[in-house]
Amino acid sequence: MNTLPEMFGTMVFNDSVMRARLPRETYKTLRRVITSGHHLDLDVANVVANAMKEWAIEKGATHFTHWFQPMTGVTAEKHDSFISPDGNDSVIMEFSGKELVKGEPDASSFPNGGLRATFEARGYTAWDPSSYAFIKDNTLCIPTAFCSYNGYALDKKTPLLRSMQAIEKQALRIVRLFGNTDVQRVLPTVGAEQEYFLIDKEMYLKRPDLIYCGRTLFGARPPKGQEMDDHYFGAIKARVSEYMKDLDENLWKLGVMAKTKHNEAAPAQHELAPLFGTTNIAADHNQLTMELMKSIAGRHGMACLLHEKPFEGVNGSGKHNNWSLSTDTGKNLLDPGSTPSQNAQFLLFLTAVIKAVDEHQDLLRVSVASAGNDHRFGANEAPPTIISVFLGDELTALLEAMVNKEDYHDRTKNLMEIGASFLPHIPQDTTDRNRTSPFAFTGNKFEFRSPGSAFSVSGINVILNTIVAESLEQFADKLEGSQNFREDLNRLIRHTIRDHKRIIFNGNNYSDDWVEEAKRRGLLNLKTTVEALPYYIKPENQKLFEHFGIFTPDELHSRYEIMLENYAKTLHIEALTMIDMVKKNIIPAVFKWESALADTIIKKRSVSTLLDCSLEEGLLGRVSALAADMGRMLETLEKMALEYKNHTEALDSAVFCRENIFACMQALRKIVDELETLVGREYWPYPVYSELLYSVL
Ligand code: ADP
Ligand code: MG
Repeated sequence: MNTLPEMFGTMVFNDSVMRARLPRETYKTLRRVITSGHHLDLDVANVVANAMKEWAIEKGATHFTHWFQPMTGVTAEKHDSFISPDGNDSVIMEFSGKELVKGEPDASSFPNGGLRATFEARGYTAWDPSSYAFIKDNTLCIPTAFCSYNGYALDKKTPLLRSMQAIEKQALRIVRLFGNTDVQRVLPTVGAEQEYFLIDKEMYLKRPDLIYCGRTLFGARPPKGQEMDDHYFGAIKARVSEYMKDLDENLWKLGVMAKTKHNEAAPAQHELAPLFGTTNIAADHNQLTMELMKSIAGRHGMACLLHEKPFEGVNGSGKHNNWSLSTDTGKNLLDPGSTPSQNAQFLLFLTAVIKAVDEHQDLLRVSVASAGNDHRFGANEAPPTIISVFLGDELTALLEAMVNKEDYHDRTKNLMEIGASFLPHIPQDTTDRNRTSPFAFTGNKFEFRSPGSAFSVSGINVILNTIVAESLEQFADKLEGSQNFREDLNRLIRHTIRDHKRIIFNGNNYSDDWVEEAKRRGLLNLKTTVEALPYYIKPENQKLFEHFGIFTPDELHSRYEIMLENYAKTLHIEALTMIDMVKKNIIPAVFKWESALADTIIKKRSVSTLLDCSLEEGLLGRVSALAADMGRMLETLEKMALEYKNHTEALDSAVFCRENIFACMQALRKIVDELETLVGREYWPYPVYSELLYSVL
């Protein structure tokens, strides 16, 4: 068997493959395109395409595809084979530079929020050369962006690349102020920790709710949940371990740096964390990871659930987005340095993030809004919907000292000067991790913990990059013309902390006190997706996105519409699935159980009228009453599912779903879950929670 280094990246057309296979000049040109974002000539593209094709065919590939990320949440690919007729009844394998750099999928049915309907019917895909091509299922996959012909972004990669450029430009201005002339590039980095559930595939296939909605719509709590805390970091079961090994190997071959794996808090829940990388590549790799998690689970007789809340009453799954900024000289800009000047630069970047988070709580909240993720918030298992920043006591004290001390001047100067000995022990001391904080500084990066497990990290990082770019731009504007840099810098950091310190919270984010305290501080608390989404298109946010060239107002509106539609459709599908499950299987099961109980009573009476039938009668009475409630609630839900069609405007439809359909679904679920506990197991038509959660042995 191959060792890890031998297998790593074998399915990737990476730098070493390029160097080995491309003519020297072509290689150099392509490197320039990759590292500086320059345009790729068709001549060069032809040479690259040919080398790629030769390499891919040697690895068994027969097809190629432009691999892209439309607004559906999953990746899309349309496969074309390399074959081309040679005029003699046989074929040759061809792949041109044009086919490499640009594709025209007939992709008119992807969600576009009205963009293409209004402007252009067709879209095209364009290669992102900074993300390497790879082979998956005998297909050469070329990571691409997906745009309309007049340049409107129709996917998740395009705005991400734009936001990376925006933050790079502003961050470079800042590092220049500190005299770093050797830095040519600043790239945001991301490490996305991915949580997921594994259950037995046969059980999965018996649950229409899991198949259609990704989560259970019914299910009473099992006798044993996660209260014993015995699953977290526990020994990994043999079958799961085999799966994880297979997953790791497949990810490594694709160049994904899968690093750690462990059991999570809930039964059947696990986590995979990769080594961090440049944001667009991390986003591509996270999509690949999710895709492989699902397909490889199937091969092991399991189903992988990526939904944020597959089981009620059991912790859901998140995706921690670890984020920082890195220079091409290898410096992490959120790492406190070893010289006073590096520390000052670190503090400036740190305060830029704090300011950005405070000023754009709404956008960060929007970036994690979805029907699935709504279930995690407010359940003391994920950060609350109030956005705040955790810095830890030491760093907070340092910043407060800068702001508060009357002898600030000397004191800060002191801190700056002695920074070498004062600051460096902060990042080492990351043991006081606050797991309840939505946005935590963890020594040399920020960890955004609110995103849901099913999310693409693109949207989250578009927001992060853009809002921090804004802080950095404002800082650079202020400092570039400064006559007294040291003093102006100190004042800027001090004032920024003073103005935004309300966003810093190191306490328990799950406590009720925090909700009150946050209200006093004037922090936003947007509890649901429908409350949050309208903030996306507020005039000041439109201006922000336009200013940095991330979204035009039309693009922004289209995204807003897509998110709302997605929300409403998700709830509508859930409602229809519920109705179907109740009508087709739950009602018949209840009838059978009622009739078994009634039969028992009749039979017992026929033996002797003196026999005690109180258990049967009591049970039958309770089941009958619940069955009647279920019938009424079902009727209401059916009416609402029909009325849904009358709500055609996106926000109105989403609000209707939240306020009416969702509330009704909750009520129906409560009744059915109680029935589940009363109906005999062999009568109940679906695998129950204890079976699902403990199905993988
Ligand atoms: P945890 O205690 O949350 O498991 P780790 O330090 O192990 O934290 O890192 C978690 C994730 O953060 C990993 O995916 C890791 O690669 C990523 N990470 C570490 N440094 C950075 C960075 N500078 N930028 C982005 N992500 C990072
Ligand atoms: Mg984490």
